[in-house]
Amino acid sequence: MTTARLETIGKVYRSPDTGPLGVAGLVGTCKRSFVAKSESVLRISDLLRLPAGSVDLQAIDTRATPGFTGAGKSDATAEMCHLRPRLADMQEQLHAEGRAGGRRSLLLVLQGMDTAGKGGTVKHVLGLMDPMGLQYHAFKQPTIEEREHHFLWRVKRRLPPPGIIGVFDRSHYEDVIVVRVHELVPPEIWSCRYGVINRFEGKLVASGTRVVKCFLHISKEEQRERLLARVDDPTKHWKYDPHDVDERAYWTDYQQAYSDAFTRCNTEAAPWYAVPADRKWYRNWAVTKILAEQLDEMALVWPTPHGWDVEKERARLAADP
Ligand code: AMP
Ligand code: MG
Repeated sequence: MTTARLETIGKVYRSPDTGPLGVAGLVGTCKRSFVAKSESVLRISDLLRLPAGSVDLQAIDTRATPGFTGAGKSDATAEMCHLRPRLADMQEQLHAEGRAGGRRSLLLVLQGMDTAGKGGTVKHVLGLMDPMGLQYHAFKQPTIEEREHHFLWRVKRRLPPPGIIGVFDRSHYEDVIVVRVHELVPPEIWSCRYGVINRFEGKLVASGTRVVKCFLHISKEEQRERLLARVDDPTKHWKYDPHDVDERAYWTDYQQAYSDAFTRCNTEAAPWYAVPADRKWYRNWAVTKILAEQLDEMALVWPTPHGWDVEKERARLAADP
């Protein structure tokens, strides 16, 4: 049994043998202990939060590992493993709050170039949580029906209800990214969308949804490696899309479109985090930490009984033959 302890955000996260939900974790069991080397209480959310103002993605190192003090992948995996019980508790508290009439929820928006690891993040990070409290949706090219509506129509239909952690694999940001790169609508249309998105997200936050937007930032070279790995491995062929290679020709345009979206839509209410994602283990670790920090800031508690009294019920059960 491990005795690992993690000092995070002023709290001590102890690691029991299994998560409270008893679900088989995708990161496996905690095989080795990990003790954070740094005494600092650096929040990864603060480190990776894009600063207000003009954003230049070129200036962000995609292989960097900000805030990580361990030795590498195995330490990152171990720390995720140890964060899991705390994450699971907070997720369950959010769920319980929703059941008790609370309005709060959390929406994780994942954006990134092809192969950036949106799916891998869902598998490894959200895999730490109870599927019952999650709602995942991947946004593809709009259907004929979706095209007939406002660009936010399909997004509003997928928002997490109270108590739920929603995950968007791509999102309404595609409507200022791919749409702009490929001129799917005229500039006078997409250029108005930044303001529309900010107002929409502002209202969403005001209604009780914490919006956490993560950009998984990979380099063009890393994307090439990942596409090659998919070509070379028959078990990955299903993930390979020749269209992704065509899209590489627009790399600079995509980076520009992303930079502009982050410059325009990185609000206090709904901030953007740029997660260096060339190292998959760092990406998974960082998104896990951001999620844990965001849930922690929600100061979730177990709801008190509503409509019944603990002592009365205990007495009733004791008297029950
Ligand atoms: P994937 O995520 O690899 O399954 O691919 C989904 C594709 O749908 C990507 O090429 C996206 O750019 C595209 N897509 C998502 N949303 C939109 C949108 N609003 N308009 C056009 N294409 C989109
Ligand atoms: Mg694709």
